[in-house]
Amino acid sequence: MTGIVIPSDRTTAQQPMGYCLNPACRERSEDSRFEFAVDHDRFCCPKCGSHDAPGVGLLVLTHLLIRDPHGPIKGELGRFKVACDTRRAYLATFTNLEAATADPSIANCPGCLAAAEKSGIRTPQGAALLAKS
Ligand SMILES: [Zn+2]
Ligand SMILES: [Zn+2]
Repeated sequence: MTGIVIPSDRTTAQQPMGYCLNPACRERSEDSRFEFAVDHDRFCCPKCGSHDAPGVGLLVLTHLLIRDPHGPIKGELGRFKVACDTRRAYLATFTNLEAATADPSIANCPGCLAAAEKSGIRTPQGAALLAKS
């Protein structure tokens, strides 16, 4: 079996997205990469079939941290919660290809962006997601 493997500790709550850097796979010339939904482990680019890291890989899922006095994550600047999973008490592991930021313009987790918009936090990507739905 060949293909890119989704880390086993990656959250299953959000759709995993893959990317391909092959210029021939870009949807628009101004894009820097082609992004696609990944439905199963051991995936490759659905367009060119490549599974050669790092040209093809799993997009890092970046969660949004929201300041919350009762949040389960304690940082130097106070307590935070992960917007899409308010009970989650850890950020990233070495292997899960997830990250977290308190900057709404960097987060790309669809669950977090939707939660942020609902609580009145404007995010560039969240606004785009809302416009689509
Ligand atoms: Zn490709
Ligand atoms: Zn999230």
